[in-house]
Amino acid sequence: RTVYLNGEYMPEDEAKVSVFDRGFLMADGVYEVTSVLDGKLIDFDGHAVRLQRSLDELEMRHPSSKEDLLEVHRELVRLNEITDGMIYLQITRGNPGDRDFAYPPQDTAPTVVLFTQAKPGMADSPLTKTGMKVISIPDQRWGRRDIKTVQLLYPSMGKMMAKAAGADDAWMVEDDHITEGTSNNAYIVKGNTIVTRQLGHDILHGITRAAVLRFAREAQMSVEERPFTVAEAQAADEAFITSASMFVMPVVEMDGAAIGSGAPGPVAARLREIYLDESRKTAI
Ligand code: PMP
Repeated sequence: RTVYLNGEYMPEDEAKVSVFDRGFLMADGVYEVTSVLDGKLIDFDGHAVRLQRSLDELEMRHPSSKEDLLEVHRELVRLNEITDGMIYLQITRGNPGDRDFAYPPQDTAPTVVLFTQAKPGMADSPLTKTGMKVISIPDQRWGRRDIKTVQLLYPSMGKMMAKAAGADDAWMVEDDHITEGTSNNAYIVKGNTIVTRQLGHDILHGITRAAVLRFAREAQMSVEERPFTVAEAQAADEAFITSASMFVMPVVEMDGAAIGSGAPGPVAARLREIYLDESRKTAI
């Protein structure tokens, strides 16, 4: 693979980052994942805007313009001949030359890394047919989940707990209500209404979430943005998740209880189709 590091394209085994990098020592960094379908970037604008917001919240300077960033994404797609897959971008506060809790001076160069992950046929995942099983676990992450930082240890632990339970993912619970999945936003459908938690500091503001809710409203579906419980999820007609890499994916089981018929539902299927159609049209 050819990867990008601080202004240069290079083979992945030549890309080296300092042991003093604050991303490595402190998880002091932010990231974005953008999907590629048919060689084109999905929702690039949304990811660029959220990246800017994450950097602003952490008082990190933006190392390049949106146009330059788009160029790097496109060049990596070209160099690695990606048809379907993902582009991972990470920006850390860089290498201050020593370990210190205080931020280094503003003129410390950030570390910018981008790489590709090929996922041939990612839009036709077999999970679409079977649906995902999820378990509930306590949400033990920090309080600013709206900032997309690289501190992903608890979500990794959650993924392992799900695997150990024979499930595909974990939905996290705080004060009796579901916040989100380990790497996705969570939804239930009851009657004709789609329910998903409202935006705040307690969840990531998913780019796919924003697009899917917009398409749902344009299609005259009713949407309620409010917290919901595990019991409500188990009693729902349908459930699903959204993320840049999974698009819209049905959820058919929560803590061992079947949701609805126990098979992927029509609302998730319809939203997935609309999302993929519309995103392909606006891909760049
Ligand atoms: N919530 C969390 C915790 C995530 O990690 C992700 C994906 N990175 C999402 C939601 C979905 O966000 P997006 O649709 O922008 O991929």
